[in-house]
Amino acid sequence: AAEAVDKWVKGTCRFCGTGCGVYVGVKGGKAVAMKGNPDAKTNFGFLCVKGFLAYKCMYHPDRLKAPMIRQKDGKFKEVSWDTALDYVTDKFKYLRQTYGKDAVAYYGSGQCTTEETYTFNKLFKGGFRSNMVEGNPRLCMASAVAGYISTYGSDEPVGSYADIEKSKCLFITGSNTSECHPVLFRRIMRHKLTNPDVKIIVCEPRKTSTTKIADLWLPCDPGTDLAVFNAMIKYILDNDLYDEKFVAQNARITNGKEVKTIAEYKEFLKDFTLEKVEKLTRCPAENIKKAAEWFANSPATMSLWCMGLNQRVKGVWANNLVHNLHLLTGQICRPGAEPFSLTGQPNACGGVRETGALSHLLPGTKPVANDGWRAHVEKCWGVEPGTIDPKPGFHTMKMFDALGGEADASKPIKAMLVSTTNPAQSLPNLHKYIKGMQDSFLVVLDIFPTRTTQLADVILPAAFIYEKGGIYGCSERRSQLTEKAVEPVGQAKPDLWIAAQIAKRMGMEKLIPWNGNDSMKANEMAWDDYREIIKDTDHTLAGATYSRLKKEKAGLQWPIPSLDHPGTERRYVRGSDPMFNHEGFKAKFGITFDPARKINFYNDAKKEGKANIFMRPFAGAAEVPDADYPFYLTTGRVIEQWHTGTMTMRIPEIARAHSHAYLEIHPEDAKKAGITSGDMVEVASKRGKCVMPAHIVSGTLPGVLFVPWHDQAFVRMINFVCNDAVDDTSFEPEFKIAAVKIKKV
Ligand code: SF4
Repeated sequence: AAEAVDKWVKGTCRFCGTGCGVYVGVKGGKAVAMKGNPDAKTNFGFLCVKGFLAYKCMYHPDRLKAPMIRQKDGKFKEVSWDTALDYVTDKFKYLRQTYGKDAVAYYGSGQCTTEETYTFNKLFKGGFRSNMVEGNPRLCMASAVAGYISTYGSDEPVGSYADIEKSKCLFITGSNTSECHPVLFRRIMRHKLTNPDVKIIVCEPRKTSTTKIADLWLPCDPGTDLAVFNAMIKYILDNDLYDEKFVAQNARITNGKEVKTIAEYKEFLKDFTLEKVEKLTRCPAENIKKAAEWFANSPATMSLWCMGLNQRVKGVWANNLVHNLHLLTGQICRPGAEPFSLTGQPNACGGVRETGALSHLLPGTKPVANDGWRAHVEKCWGVEPGTIDPKPGFHTMKMFDALGGEADASKPIKAMLVSTTNPAQSLPNLHKYIKGMQDSFLVVLDIFPTRTTQLADVILPAAFIYEKGGIYGCSERRSQLTEKAVEPVGQAKPDLWIAAQIAKRMGMEKLIPWNGNDSMKANEMAWDDYREIIKDTDHTLAGATYSRLKKEKAGLQWPIPSLDHPGTERRYVRGSDPMFNHEGFKAKFGITFDPARKINFYNDAKKEGKANIFMRPFAGAAEVPDADYPFYLTTGRVIEQWHTGTMTMRIPEIARAHSHAYLEIHPEDAKKAGITSGDMVEVASKRGKCVMPAHIVSGTLPGVLFVPWHDQAFVRMINFVCNDAVDDTSFEPEFKIAAVKIKKV
């Protein structure tokens, strides 16, 4: 109750990419409660159980409270901050001098604030002169990024969550929204309940709690959805359900090299008949036909997708095909008509994507290889021309593969600074990467001990989001400011302070001048530095100053080109997108606009303002079941747990829910294998194995198994089993599909 706390402090939920607005209740200098922000346009005051109870992990006795250095006997010893930081920087200096500038890497997180991600990106690319900068969004959103950029010329969604309530048909694919984005799912359910004529289509192999509200379910084997999408497109084209005028004005069909006609696209798709695709995918032909009709004929269709499409070796193609469905049917750039990729983490969009904290990018999501943009960033950073390396660094899986000890000449990366993520549990095919983390010089910033801190040489205790404040940008391009509510526990420090201290010791203090103990002031300085770089881009936050974001109860959606701009609900549309025909944008990027057009995408190579409809063939998973490994395995989240369970397993009320991973198995498969519910079952791929109890669940396709991935126990860590094959464009691994065998143990 309000009277039970001294004050309520505005913030954003620490967990999923929905970006729910919260208030943190503070009493006696401690966080003691949380409630939803009724003014937040993401959640309108509602929270799921994780958001409601997040504060409870802050005072868990396991919190890391002092810096620690591993001693010769393998044990950690608490040391002062000066000792820890001197040790880290001396080692970084030595390794850079001995093995070259790329020998020290940074691996960040979609859970760091935008200011933190920007700062470490600046320190490494502008100070260390190394592009060995990656973040865990490579493992969750990279395929969505490549899908958006290749199709429209710019990353992130066209519209907003508000399209949910305006849609008449929702196409949910590769997303268990009910468990992974529960507050958004509540919005979907409310919309359906108040508008029973709204159609919900779900395409996914599991009978999840999301599929349970669907009017139409498209169950297909993991990795075969590309064929389902192509069959829908073929049906739409063959039956004249496409919007010929919209396509002619706003899109170009292409095989990636040449522009093609509708007739040529039809010819390309000739094998994707409903019958053939049913045989290939197990998805009933009648369901595909109905889905195509509903998608095309609805007054407004919105697609929602997440990791089920992204974490795949053909994740970019899967994204392209969903965009194709929208472009061909004109279901885009209108209220309720929208292809919308849901983000997994609270700041994958605002942080790693927008600040360009991946090995090939710079702030503003522009490539390091772009000479003009590199020169612009160097000028803004006040570094010598030529400081930033034009060559991209390694993508995440390659970076961890290249990580090793000084004795191993085959491993060029000798040290890594890891912040706010737990790669020793979250990488796929873990056996392959643990040794590199063990042998190299590993520095980990976190709030709790994790599987990764167990491999570290130095552990730096980090402040929690409500102990330092900062900005998160959620799935709908919305930047929201979290105020500092309480002091950090023990000697924990904000990442920004740690970055500034490292910079100072490396002689790079001019680069990171936000060096004080006032975390909100440091945040604001970093934010302003970042905003200056991206001024006049399609991501501009020029009007989103700290003072304004402090006052705004619901944050702001970019682009926000000026202080009086209210933020942008829909992009690319004249009258709605402030960058449409914007002089600064045109001048800086050479984008052309025909002011007479209603819609202008930024894919400007041909100066037509059109989006690309890529003709994509079918390609399945990297690994499909065979005689030795006869089952598909797919993995995901449960509603109560977050990622590797580091925080949620330390919240007593939810630690009890799904505390252990389990194997979800179809009754027919269980019967054949002699398995009954609760039996311990070994799940093995070519890479590793786990043992866990069986949950027999009917509904999901026989032959498809599911395991949640939050469990930290070695015996149940499913990422030992997962596949690390990557998409050849986004380099995102195929977490979602592996071929496995099972046996009762
Ligand atoms: Fe937090 Fe996501 Fe739950 Fe909202 S839906 S409260 S952002 S975990």
